[in-house]
Amino acid sequence: MPCISNDSTASSVPVLDRQSLRPDCGNCFALCCTALGFSRSSDFAIDKPAGTPCQNLNSDFSCTIHDSLRPRGFRGCTVFDCFGAGQSVSQDLFQGLSWKADPGTAKDMFPAFKVVRQLHEMLWFLAEAAGKTFDPDTSQQINELRRAIEDAMGDLQQVLALDVGAMHGRVRSVLMEVSEEVRSAYLAAGDDHLDAELVPGADLMGRKMKSRSLCGADLRGAYLIAADLRGCNLSGANLLGADLRDARLGGADLSKTLYLTQAQLNAAHGDALTLLPSELDYPAHWLNS
Ligand code: SF4
Repeated sequence: MPCISNDSTASSVPVLDRQSLRPDCGNCFALCCTALGFSRSSDFAIDKPAGTPCQNLNSDFSCTIHDSLRPRGFRGCTVFDCFGAGQSVSQDLFQGLSWKADPGTAKDMFPAFKVVRQLHEMLWFLAEAAGKTFDPDTSQQINELRRAIEDAMGDLQQVLALDVGAMHGRVRSVLMEVSEEVRSAYLAAGDDHLDAELVPGADLMGRKMKSRSLCGADLRGAYLIAADLRGCNLSGANLLGADLRDARLGGADLSKTLYLTQAQLNAAHGDALTLLPSELDYPAHWLNS
């Protein structure tokens, strides 16, 4: 079934350049490889405590096994996306002074990275919401939230003192408003194709849904691990926080989904026929396999 909706983009909110929310590893002090910890698992070959450099980190902040992360058991590194927080903390909050040049900076730099990553993720979603809402009140709310987040990120002490949970709650509320607005445009087109099982947080692990129309589905937080979504149309579907690990996305239309991230794509399997939003990239492992 084709998905029908008024999906043109219009908003009075100036569009935030989402390119600034993409990782720029060349301007980052490898904060994901130091600040964060990980446990030995199918995604990481080793245990690494938070706040310590990974054993594979080079002195110039590059990764010594960058070209063979997956075969060496570091799939998690190829999935992670900092939303541009790494370069923002390294260059803006710490003016290019690394934790290596001044080890005393680490005690604030690493916690700040964790906070800024969450704030950048919120900005990423708000930018998308701004481009999709037609409601001037919602646009205004988005603008105010963006300004509040950008102001908070201008000062290290503000970043460290920020109530991230409260900010997250405010952002989530407006994201859901836009989700309802967008999804209702699909569902109002006479769509009765959605099953009762397609609900937020649904357990759809391994589910075979090949070539189905999932337009306008509210799949936020759904467990789509290893689900077969090949050839599906997910236009207008809310994928906020959906777990797409090992989901099969070959030939699926994801070009008009809501709240899809690069990390979700990196964790999934697709191919050159999968349609993506213009801001997101085809993961290298999709095209090499
Ligand atoms: S394996 Fe490479 S990319 Fe992964 S944490 Fe270690 S240095 Fe960073």
